[in-house]
Amino acid sequence: MSRSLRELLDDGAGELGMTLSPTDVDKLLLLMIELRKWNRKINLTGITTERGIIIKHLLDSLTVVSLLPQGARLLDLGSGGGFPCIPLALVRPDLKVTSVDATLKKIHFQRHAARLLGLSNFEALQLRGDTLAQSHGGSFDLVLSRGFSSLPEFTALAKPLLAPGGIIIAMKGSSGGDEAAESAPFLEECGLRVREVVRLRLPASGDERSFVVIEAI
Ligand code: SAH
Repeated sequence: MSRSLRELLDDGAGELGMTLSPTDVDKLLLLMIELRKWNRKINLTGITTERGIIIKHLLDSLTVVSLLPQGARLLDLGSGGGFPCIPLALVRPDLKVTSVDATLKKIHFQRHAARLLGLSNFEALQLRGDTLAQSHGGSFDLVLSRGFSSLPEFTALAKPLLAPGGIIIAMKGSSGGDEAAESAPFLEECGLRVREVVRLRLPASGDERSFVVIEAI
């Protein structure tokens, strides 16, 4: 693995206020390699370059780390190729991570990646969001998603899955604040409210990101 890619990941994590262990860097780069390998056969992501995957999948996934409560039971809804759930499970072994996606081939990739990375705090389930409440109602301290759906659609699915005191986090681009404001009446009808909108820039690219953090009223 070239030194510059390793540096990109290390420096980017540093910009996010994190120090990655050399083992975690190795494993994240391995995840990038596996994703590219599998992506030649099955469509997991439109981002295909090494740098692109490091910045827009690996580092982007890690942007949310500081918001995750210690020991939380976390659900990633619509996790696709395993983002953000796999990098989060790796760098935060205290979390218990459940990943859900409707597409079986994506879940197969995630299980393969989790085995390769030796993740014991991670499970990947092929399910649809709308059936999850039957099996996992009230089970999670944190339900999050990235690139999944509109805020109202996501929160409607997430709310019945929250344990008491649990929170919802939607990882968005620059539009998170506007979407949060537009969705406020709907959220209130559902017994939810926006606790905060956190804005940040992605390391290396400078792209704008925002997290909409939502709690039960
Ligand atoms: N979170 C990933 C993938 C985003 S794409 C990332 O940021 O890279 C959205 C994903 O949601 C797709 O993989 C799709 O299969 C999944 N999806 C869409 N509707 C769903 C539903 N109702 N239940 C579960 N997964 C769903």
